[in-house]
Amino acid sequence: MDLNHIEARIQEELTHTLASIDNTCRQLSQSAVQSSDCCDTADQLQHHYQLNTIIGRLNARAKALSIAKAKLSLDDYGYCQACGDDIEPARLAFDVTCTHCISCQTKKEMNQHLYR
Ligand SMILES: [Zn+2]
Repeated sequence: MDLNHIEARIQEELTHTLASIDNTCRQLSQSAVQSSDCCDTADQLQHHYQLNTIIGRLNARAKALSIAKAKLSLDDYGYCQACGDDIEPARLAFDVTCTHCISCQTKKEMNQHLYR
């Protein structure tokens, strides 16, 4: 596994994600509810809600990327959080923030479905 390549990918995506957060927060502050027309207000509230949802997702992604970056610097990257085995390189190539090997991820998702 080429860790330098992964580190570059993490850094690139993190920079991009943080810029998107900035951009979305700016949109949010510019779209303050001002109109007295109730239909406009409903549209604006809907728009606010969507922007907040996007910001929430971007923040979660930035956090996952920061954790992956920290793990890389601690030489703790690429190991499953649950069983400690190596995470399959193909999984990490697909998503650099993967924290579980395929079998633990499957178990985790099955549990989430069971207890939902
Ligand atoms: Zn595992």
